[in-house]
Amino acid sequence: MCLFCKIINKEIPSNIILENEEFLAFHDINPKAPVHILAIPKIHVDSFNEVNPELMASMTKFIQNIAVEFQLDESGYRVITNIGENGGQEVKHLHFHILGGAKLKWEHFSDANPQDFL
Ligand code: AMP
Repeated sequence: MCLFCKIINKEIPSNIILENEEFLAFHDINPKAPVHILAIPKIHVDSFNEVNPELMASMTKFIQNIAVEFQLDESGYRVITNIGENGGQEVKHLHFHILGGAKLKWEHFSDANPQDFL
């Protein structure tokens, strides 16, 4: 069973902030912003590559609800999902990072040039 499935089953503790029948949201253990929440589906989906668009529709609503609950909707925030090797995905269970609570830097991308990767 994958790490996030164990969190869903409460075999591994997590700091849960929102839960319904389909989804779970909890604080990232290694936050990269004042607010750093992970939103995941309760059914195991490896990554965004495999997600059913119908599940994404309700996942979108779930993420929007988190943004409202944490008062990020007006100040702004970032939603990221890493996919596979090049995307830097470490946990192979679809998850969306919801980052906010401060003006986020664009860091790597701000001065990135496609040539740099060659
Ligand atoms: P990714 O690199 O996109 O796969 O992101 C995985 C995220 O899961 C990282 O931001 C980790 O800090 C986070 N993470 C790993 N283990 C835990 C855990 N037990 N509880 C909460 N977040 C976790």
